[in-house]
Amino acid sequence: MIGLLSETPAMHYARRIMEVLQLDVSGRPQAWISAKEAAILYASDGVAWTLGDTFYVLRGGTQRRTGMQSRIEVHPIIAVRGSVPSRAWRQAPALSNPKLFARDRQVCAYCGHHNHVDDLTREHIIPTSRGGTDSWMNCITACRPCNGHKGNRLPEEARMSLLYLPYVPSLHEDMILRGRRILADQMEFLLASVPRHSRLHS
Ligand SMILES: [Zn+2]
Repeated sequence: MIGLLSETPAMHYARRIMEVLQLDVSGRPQAWISAKEAAILYASDGVAWTLGDTFYVLRGGTQRRTGMQSRIEVHPIIAVRGSVPSRAWRQAPALSNPKLFARDRQVCAYCGHHNHVDDLTREHIIPTSRGGTDSWMNCITACRPCNGHKGNRLPEEARMSLLYLPYVPSLHEDMILRGRRILADQMEFLLASVPRHSRLHS
């Protein structure tokens, strides 16, 4: 039984914003889950192994048999017992604007300026109207003025060259791009498997 009986405001805050990196038993990343979702896995004996230092302790109800309060220590990385390897492992990660802007470090590929996400756009290198695909390899981050200036043209036609190149993120990198607040232990684990060519290393 997990209750949240004695949660301080600071603990509540940590639980709300911190996410746990869920792996399958072989160590492949599967998802970001909440501390509460992780606690349910711990309580049902679903956690095979963990990595990193405890970042959150959940205190539950008093156990009738022992009179002790139950306690669950949540680790930043947990491998889930019996989970099947994710199908996502074999597929390219889904493209989204937040992940695209994170891959490109919020830097416009044409003028090189760093921008707030609200001022960035998903730019199709080959315009979709001319057969370009909506994919990681044909999309790049651009500021609104550069995107507007390029319009329906190819970069050569607009005499605009790319300052960096697009690429498809690996699964580990995708987990970094999806994470909201990544703890040091989680970042270290994920970065170890991110290819050297990734912009996340720069
Ligand atoms: Zn620009």
